[in-house]
Amino acid sequence: MAAKALLKSGLRKAIGSGYNTRVWDESWLPTSPPRPPTGVWASKTVPKIKHFMWQALTNCVPVCSRLADLHCHPDRTCPRCGQHEETINHMLFECHMATQTWSLAALPTDPGEFPSSSIYGNFDFVLNRIHKRHSTKECKARIPWILWFLWKARNEKVFSNKDISPLEVLQSAVSETI
Ligand SMILES: [Zn+2]
Repeated sequence: MAAKALLKSGLRKAIGSGYNTRVWDESWLPTSPPRPPTGVWASKTVPKIKHFMWQALTNCVPVCSRLADLHCHPDRTCPRCGQHEETINHMLFECHMATQTWSLAALPTDPGEFPSSSIYGNFDFVLNRIHKRHSTKECKARIPWILWFLWKARNEKVFSNKDISPLEVLQSAVSETI
């Protein structure tokens, strides 16, 4: 295939939304920078969450840090904890509001394994590694919804100044998967 030869020679193809290009699954694509984990489009969840996860992995979710980079927002601080820069990894995994939610979800993890400072590592865990662990089907099915409701809770805080607890985030995710 001609395109493959071009890519092998170092040219890169525009990825766009990723809907039509299984870019991270193709072994012949360049590997620098490191690839996000595979599995977003194959995950068992609804399309809006697949799209959200793709946006998170491609740094396209409009958190404060991202908006500040684009000169659209003056403050990088996390609106939920008020303590750290709000990156996508912080919002979904490392903010204490997120870590408490993940703790309540009781995922089978090894000590220090999850969450980590790498968004790729965290997504690799929730999309791939978790499925090799002993855990209930319901527990695994909740994971994409937890990501979704963490984002919703963040937006409730930003746009309505409403505090949604980690337990409420988990309960919302549970209610979508029973
Ligand atoms: Zn925070």
